[in-house]
Amino acid sequence: MTVSAQVLSDFFRRTPPVPVQKLESELLHGKQIELYVRREDLLHPDVSGNKWRKLKHNLLAAAEQHFETLLTFGGAFSNHIAAVAAAGKLFGFKTIGLIRGEEHLPLNHTLQQATENGMQLHYQDRETYRRKNEPDLQARLKQQFGHAYLIPEGGTNALALKGCTEIISEIKVDFDVLCCAAGTGGTAAGLLCGLNGSKALLAFSALKGDFLQQEIDAFTQICSGRTYRNWHLQTAYHFGGYAKTKPELFAFIQEFEQQFQIPLEPVYTAKMFFGLFELIRQNHFPAGTKIMALHTGGLQGNAGFKKEFNF
Ligand SMILES: *Cc1c(COP(=O)(O)O)cnc(C)c1O
Repeated sequence: MTVSAQVLSDFFRRTPPVPVQKLESELLHGKQIELYVRREDLLHPDVSGNKWRKLKHNLLAAAEQHFETLLTFGGAFSNHIAAVAAAGKLFGFKTIGLIRGEEHLPLNHTLQQATENGMQLHYQDRETYRRKNEPDLQARLKQQFGHAYLIPEGGTNALALKGCTEIISEIKVDFDVLCCAAGTGGTAAGLLCGLNGSKALLAFSALKGDFLQQEIDAFTQICSGRTYRNWHLQTAYHFGGYAKTKPELFAFIQEFEQQFQIPLEPVYTAKMFFGLFELIRQNHFPAGTKIMALHTGGLQGNAGFKKEFNF
């Protein structure tokens, strides 16, 4: 059975507006900073945040081109894997996830959930996984898995950038600085293309190093044929690297939720907000600055982290 492009486009057209929450605290008042959180995490319970944005036009394209199967890549805790599996279940695509590394049983929460949503999991040794974007390996995957719509790791491709670009025109609150967490940098790049040189973007890297600087430039070349200067990559808040955590990060998540009634997860959004509050404390932003921070979702991963770290 093929997936109806009409059903998909109706679904996306009926999306309610994303709630925006203004945070109030002594620190924010003292520094005269207005901080808004755009709750992209509330877009959908299982296809949340930026993964919803990045999948939107890919799902539409897959349906229009009569693909029945989505094939994608990710690590064992990947929000992207979770989102593709949930979207497949929601709209009727078969889904195949090529997972980095070896199988660990029992499956963690993310992979268990993906399986329950009908995703077929195949494990790739790290060497093969590294070559996932090479044409010869992709040809082999096509042979192995048949006619499938391929979505890259983390979901970042031209159509994903387009989906993230659309966030900008939906923002109705005036702001000076937009903040987001960065993994592949696709979301940050899409936002930059949407801003089209106006205002400023602060991207908080969830990974160690500053290679995202070039990656984001390369992605904005794809969505608007140019690079931008109105942004900065914050590289000081990775907490040891991708998916690495520290007790103070979990403490921050708990305090933040108590104070603002907004749940965070430790891989992306907590690192961004931790960094953002530290910058505010250090007077990084002049008094009067209006900040719009994107909550990019990813809360599905918390079930696993809560079990592992007991927070
Ligand atoms: C995947 C993810 C990101 C990173 O998005 P990129 O477009 O890969 O930079 C940020 N936040 C959350 C919650 C995510 O799941």
